[in-house]
Amino acid sequence: MPPPADAPRLDRFSLPDAAGHFGSYGGVFVPETLMTALQELAAAYELARKDPSFQAELRHHLKEFAGRPTELYLAERLTQHCGGAKIYLKREDLLHTGAHKINNALAQALLARRMGKRRIIAETGAGQHGVATAAACAKFGLECVVYMGAHDMERQALNVFRMRLMGAEVRGVEAGQKTLKEAINEAMRDWVTNVRNTHYILGTAYGSHPYPMMVRDFHRVIGQEAREQILAREGRLPDELIACVGGGSNAIGLFFEFLEEPGVRLTGVEAGGRSLTRGEHAARFAGGRLGVLQGCKTFLLQDADGQIELTHSVSAGLDYAAVGPEHAFYRDRGRIDFASASDDEVLATFQLCSRLEGIIPALESTHALVHAVKRAQALSRDKIIIVNLSGRGDKDVQHVAQLLGATA
Ligand SMILES: *Cc1c(COP(=O)(O)O)cnc(C)c1O
Repeated sequence: MPPPADAPRLDRFSLPDAAGHFGSYGGVFVPETLMTALQELAAAYELARKDPSFQAELRHHLKEFAGRPTELYLAERLTQHCGGAKIYLKREDLLHTGAHKINNALAQALLARRMGKRRIIAETGAGQHGVATAAACAKFGLECVVYMGAHDMERQALNVFRMRLMGAEVRGVEAGQKTLKEAINEAMRDWVTNVRNTHYILGTAYGSHPYPMMVRDFHRVIGQEAREQILAREGRLPDELIACVGGGSNAIGLFFEFLEEPGVRLTGVEAGGRSLTRGEHAARFAGGRLGVLQGCKTFLLQDADGQIELTHSVSAGLDYAAVGPEHAFYRDRGRIDFASASDDEVLATFQLCSRLEGIIPALESTHALVHAVKRAQALSRDKIIIVNLSGRGDKDVQHVAQLLGATA
């Protein structure tokens, strides 16, 4: 969808404004006790982003510890199978700890050290952000406390063990649904109490300013690399980029570099769950509306009274009631399109990609693959699609085996 003819020219660097607004989305919605911490963080980040020595140090660790740059890989057999556009995979699954999340965790740990804060807290749902944060903290010798819903701790026992192996303390949260939303509440409570020596490493492009901007910036490297790689390989820009959207960090990281390229279609894929009826999915743009949750004004799944609705997805990483504010903004402008993939489609494509490519994708990333397969089939062979393979599926194989009734 092209932007309306009267829309001002897009300048991706003009957002957010100084108060963290992406148009009518974003902002800062926290108790007064956290305002100082957020302002201090915004100021420290502003200095760091302009400081060549911070950027150089970050680049060094991203290379040596995390394993950047990641390959842009032509999925030949998947492409053949679809019979249309070429499908390239941006291999964030090859990063240390198995997903894109390490880009942000490493960068924020460096920033915390620079701010003189030696205690780190984080929230985690499936455990991927917790594992990335625990790894970064071990590397820099920082104390690490990870909040995790008690229910998630049961479901993701292996990731709990990984975090503890790397020296993190994992605190179970017994409130409410005992999942991600409650873990974030608890992390914010800790931050209010311990803000003098503590930095909160939020795991996605969500929350109060400066988090959505900062987390986006720390993932922009994905799109910067992809742009260079596709130009070197194909001599031109791709026709379409596809990424899954939980909070939105891997997607905005890939998309940002291409926002002002009108010839490149950008599509985010949300969790379609069991169906698009209330409580059965996490597709915020298919049933959500404007509201405020955990510090941020954005699209969210809520009932008539504004209470947050239950969500469901086969992938824990996409199972959240709200979406990052920058995505809501660009959707309104018609610059980023959104689609959803159902649990069943995801299970089928998880197996398809494993069998055809020898690559087991994370269930989250598989949502993007589902849509990419549909698009590749619809497009001609001279078109190019890049899919962000945000993580690897090793963490998911046991869950999938159970769902398929196999033994593992
Ligand atoms: C956490 C996670 C996601 C979802 O988070 P975003 O911030 O939307 O990127 C997607 N893929 C993987 C592999 C994840 O671990």
